[in-house]
Amino acid sequence: MSDYAVEFDNVTKQFGDNVLFEQFNFNIRKNEVVSIIGPSGSGKSTLLRILMTLEGIDAGMVRVQGESLWHMQKGGAWLPADERHLRKCRGHMGMVFQHFNLFPHMTVLRNITEAPIHVLGQSKEEARANGLELLRTVGLADKADAYPSQLSGGQKQRVGIARALAMRPSILLLDEITSALDPELVDEVLEVIRKLAAEDAYTMILVTHEMYFAREISDRVCFFDAGAIVEEGPPEQIFNQPKHERTRAFLNSFL
Ligand code: ADP
Ligand code: MG
Repeated sequence: MSDYAVEFDNVTKQFGDNVLFEQFNFNIRKNEVVSIIGPSGSGKSTLLRILMTLEGIDAGMVRVQGESLWHMQKGGAWLPADERHLRKCRGHMGMVFQHFNLFPHMTVLRNITEAPIHVLGQSKEEARANGLELLRTVGLADKADAYPSQLSGGQKQRVGIARALAMRPSILLLDEITSALDPELVDEVLEVIRKLAAEDAYTMILVTHEMYFAREISDRVCFFDAGAIVEEGPPEQIFNQPKHERTRAFLNSFL
C-alpha cells in the first residue's frame, strides 16, 4: 500500500495548445497538511479539479490512496477508469469551494444529508444524526432548519465544510475557501479548519491566500507558478528564507 494519499506522476495537462502542467510530479503523504500558494492562473484549482476527476489529463498518472484515476488504452489514449472505480476514488475526497455552492431551496441540514442518503445509502435517521453532529463541530447546531439565504457567508462556508465531511472523506481539498468572505468572517471558517487539522485524521490540500494561516497549520508549503512547483518546504523555510526570487516577489506582494 502506498504511503501517499495523492500522487501525480509525470502528469501533462493542456487546454488546447496551452500546456499547463508538463511532466508534473507531486506527492502528498497520508495525513499531511499541504498549502498551495501562488499567483492567479498558476494551476492551483486545476490540480484539485484533476483530483476530483472534474478535469482530464493528457499524460501521466494520478493516484488517490494508491488507486489510479486513469487507465491507458491501447493506442495510448488516457481514459477515466470506469464509473464505479471513479466513485470509489472520489469518495476518498471532500472538496470545499470558494463559492459554497449550497442548494438554496434546501435547509442547512438537508444540504448536508442529501449526498450521504443518496450516494452512501445512509438511512435518513443516520444521516440526520451525523449531520447534526457535524453542525455541532462547525458551531452551527442551531441553524439546522435555516435556509442558506438566512446565513452569513462565514456560516454558509461552515455548512460547506460540514457537507464535505458528511461523506467521510480522508482527503480534504479546500480551494480558497475564505476568498469570497468579508474579512471579519474569515476567522470563524479558519478556526474550523484549524480544529480539523489538529485531529490529524485528514490529508489536507489547502489552496489559500491566507499566508499567516498557511504558515500556522501546514506541514509543507508549495509555491506554484505557471503550472510548476517553484519552491516547497516547511513553512518556516518558505516564509522566512525563500530561495527563489519569484517566491520572494510573490510573498512581498502580501506585505
Ligand atoms: P489558479 O487556480 O491557480 O488561479 P487555474 O487552475 O484556475 O489557476 O488555471 C490555470 C490556467 O489554466 C489558467 O491559465 C487558466 O486560464 C487555464 N484554464 C483553467 N481551466 C480552463 C478551461 N476549462 N479551459 C481553458 N483554460 C483553462
Ligand atoms: Mg483557483
